[in-house]
Amino acid sequence: MKKYVSKASTEIDKFGFAGVKNLIKNCGEGQIDTGKMMKSLLSLVRIKNIEVLNGIEIKGWYHKEECLLVETGNGFSIPTQQLLITTNAFAKQLLPDALVEPGRAQVLITKPIPHLKVKGTFHYEKGYFYFRNVGNRILFGGGRNLDFKTENTFEFGLTSTVQNHLEKLLSTMILPNQPLEIDQRWSGIMGLGPVKSSIIKRVEERICCAVKGRRKRKDYYS
Ligand SMILES: Cc1cc2nc3c(=O)[nH]c(=O)nc-3n(C[C@H](O)[C@H](O)[C@H](O)COP(=O)(O)OP(=O)(O)OC[C@H]3O[C@@H](n4cnc5c(N)ncnc54)[C@H](O)[C@@H]3O)c2cc1C
Repeated sequence: MKKYVSKASTEIDKFGFAGVKNLIKNCGEGQIDTGKMMKSLLSLVRIKNIEVLNGIEIKGWYHKEECLLVETGNGFSIPTQQLLITTNAFAKQLLPDALVEPGRAQVLITKPIPHLKVKGTFHYEKGYFYFRNVGNRILFGGGRNLDFKTENTFEFGLTSTVQNHLEKLLSTMILPNQPLEIDQRWSGIMGLGPVKSSIIKRVEERICCAVKGRRKRKDYYS
C-alpha cells in the first residue's frame, strides 16, 4: 500500500519557516484552481443543456399535488418534480433539522513576493490554519479557533482578532524577516457538523439534500 504520510522536518529550512519544529508530508494533498474548476463545470453543464440561474435566492417551497413550487426572493416561483438542496453551510435556513452549522473562514492573500520559497499547501494547528502559494503569492486563512462563537455565523466579514493573528503568523512564522504586503482579504462560510461525513440523503418525497464537506467541528453545539 502506498505510504501517504511521511516525516519531512528536514525540509523546514527549504521553505524558510521560523519557529517550526516538525513537518509532516502528505502526498495525497493537492491544490486546485477553483476558477478553472467552475469554468470547466459550467462548460460541461452547457453541453448537457442544463440551465443555470444565478443570483436567485430560494426562500422555501409549497407542496402542490402534482409538484413542488419553489419560492424565489425575486417574487416568482419555479415548479419542479424534484428539489436537491446543495446550499452547504446555509442548509439550516431551508432545512431547520439539518446537522450543519456555519463556520466562517477568513482569508488573505499577499502581493507577489520575489523569490518565494514556500511552494505547496500547508496545514497548521490541527488544520485551523491553512496556507498555500498561489504563484508567487501566499494565500493564508483560518483562525476560527481564536473565537469560535463569533465565527459560527452566516454573515461574511472580517474581524481584527483573526486578521491580526493571521498577519502575525505570516510575518513571524511563514515569511519571517522579509517585506510583504497584503493585497486582498475576504471570507467564506464552511458547512460543519458533528460527524466527518457529508449529508447526502432524501429528506422527503420530492426533496433531497447534499450538504456539508468532510469536516467535523469539535466544539459543535446544536
Ligand atoms: C475560505 C474557504 C476555503 C476553503 N478551501 C478549501 C480547500 O482548499 N479544499 C477543500 O476541499 N475545501 C475547501 N473549502 C470548503 C469548500 O469550499 C466546500 O466544501 C465546497 O465549496 C462545498 O461546495 P458546495 O457547492 O456544496 O457549497 P458552497 O460552495 O458553499 O455553495 C453553496 C451555495 O449556495 C448558495 N446559497 C445559500 N443559500 C441559498 C439560498 N437560500 N438560495 C439560493 N442559493 C443559496 C450560496 O450562495 C453558495 O453559492 C473552503 C471553504 C472556505 C470557506
